[in-house]
Amino acid sequence: MNSCVVLDGKAFAEKNKAELSKKVSKLKNDLGRSPSLAAILVGDDPASATYVAMKEKACKEIGIKTSTHEKNESCTTEELLSLIDELNADKTIDGILLQHPVPKHIDEIKCFNRINLSKDVDGVTTEGFGNLSMGLSAFGSCTPLGIMRLLKEYNVVCEGKLALVVGRSQILGKPMVSMLLNANATTITAHSKSKDLDGLLAIADIVVAAVGIPNFIDCKKLKKGSVLIDAGYHPDEKCGDVDMNGITEIVSAYTPVPGGVGPMTINTLMYNTILSMEKSNNG
Ligand code: NAP
Repeated sequence: MNSCVVLDGKAFAEKNKAELSKKVSKLKNDLGRSPSLAAILVGDDPASATYVAMKEKACKEIGIKTSTHEKNESCTTEELLSLIDELNADKTIDGILLQHPVPKHIDEIKCFNRINLSKDVDGVTTEGFGNLSMGLSAFGSCTPLGIMRLLKEYNVVCEGKLALVVGRSQILGKPMVSMLLNANATTITAHSKSKDLDGLLAIADIVVAAVGIPNFIDCKKLKKGSVLIDAGYHPDEKCGDVDMNGITEIVSAYTPVPGGVGPMTINTLMYNTILSMEKSNNG
């Protein structure tokens, strides 16, 4: 019988909350205040509002202070930049989260890049990404860093493995490749213009699916014994980017959807916010 491990992000995130909570208490004792995260929500996209509410709820559960700064749809780039400046200057704020996407008329990259590197707990700045790529200190983007933390928790070795990341977005695919490379994997990035994806799936030891298309990859195309990370989540279809039918017969380990990558993203945002206060020592 095949043995197949479920990389249970939900269970790990739940277990890790106690550890994060202890760190929050220690910071409060040592520096006289709790870590704090400022979230910026622009416009009225219901999905974004839900994501911010979920992040706030998780933070509150472990004692991280949160504040949400809501701006209406007509907010300009300049107005958003000036709010980010205020939050950058506030010594009692450790992390700034600008919820993506902002309305199209706003220069999102310019706003991301205005976030002070020391408060970029969502890992969205160009400088942070550059540092990460160079193997220097930076807050990793939360979803790929969450994936790396989950792999570590389950002792999945990346060194020397052939890792295929399907997707090259700024927040997920590209930083994922950098992190896997930093962990000494041999990396391949596939995207919409790549040829012979099936051939790549057949040889990769680790596959990260970050495509954004429901059931896009048929798990039967994966190499026997490989490790599958499915970062996709499609609530309407109740599935990820991989068709998991028969998965336990093929891979040695995989992330379920839901309950795999998603809970790790929120947990990692809290992890980074705490780390930010620990690094800055700002009471
Ligand atoms: P994205 O910005 O839409 O990027 C999708 C990537 O997939 C692009 O790089 C695109 O290539 C590539 N792609 C599209 N069609 C392809 C094809 N036929 N073959 C190979 N590659 C193809 O998406 P994202 O923000 O990275 O998100 C990806 C998935 O992860 C989504 O399902 C999203 O919901 C999920 N996600 C989950 C979390 C979480 O916390 N669980 C967080 C973030 C994202 P091009 O660059 O060539 O267009």
